[in-house]
Amino acid sequence: MKIYETHAHLDFDKYDKDRDLILKKALEMGITYINNIGYDDKSIIGSFALADKYPQIYAAAGFHPHDATKYDEELVRKYAKHPKCIAIGEIGLDYYRNLSPKKIQKKVFAEQIKIAMEYDLPIVVHDRDAHEDTLEILEKYMPKKVVFHCFAGDEIMAQRVLANGWKMSFTGNITYKNNNLHGVIRNCPNDSFFIETDSPYLTPVPFRGKRNDPTKLRYIIEKIADIKRISPNKVAEYAYENSIKFFLPNK
Ligand SMILES: [Zn+2]
Repeated sequence: MKIYETHAHLDFDKYDKDRDLILKKALEMGITYINNIGYDDKSIIGSFALADKYPQIYAAAGFHPHDATKYDEELVRKYAKHPKCIAIGEIGLDYYRNLSPKKIQKKVFAEQIKIAMEYDLPIVVHDRDAHEDTLEILEKYMPKKVVFHCFAGDEIMAQRVLANGWKMSFTGNITYKNNNLHGVIRNCPNDSFFIETDSPYLTPVPFRGKRNDPTKLRYIIEKIADIKRISPNKVAEYAYENSIKFFLPNK
């Protein structure tokens, strides 16, 4: 089984003691690519340091809506040119925590969309409780390559995302009770989804509450297989091919 982990934050110091071991175990289970995603200045620098060190790690540069007030355009532009940059992200809107004023979140999101288009890079979107504004801003610019990381919309929103040619990424929250994404997953075409852990967050059942890591992708793969009634191998294969085409089209 070949697996592409499309969203993790392994630069966090929580992994300093066992990062090598986690990456070794991940490789052993077939995880041949990992996208490490930046969200502020420190994590962008940390993500690209990992990409420089480990051949299987690629990185994304962007300022998360929580950190929109700290937006540093020069830094994003600098790393957008890095040979292992696979996307601008994670960028978007977060009206759940509202750690930055909405107006600034929107402005910084739009500016980074323009950078992604200028450098012809995909966009990794963070959208929490901000579906309508997120879609509205993206639809104003209509970038070609967009993925909604940890997709959390309903089936109507999913249809709108798919109609624009964009992708959805599923993470450990799909294993939680009361999760309402089963219909979205069942109806998502096999060429339009990716898988991710969002490590260290969103740890799947049965490890919920503990630190997450990419090897736990197996529980997400199994859950999608269960919902779609196809084999886990097929889920991993579709997600892998979709991810390569999207993030590493020259591989
Ligand atoms: Zn993330």
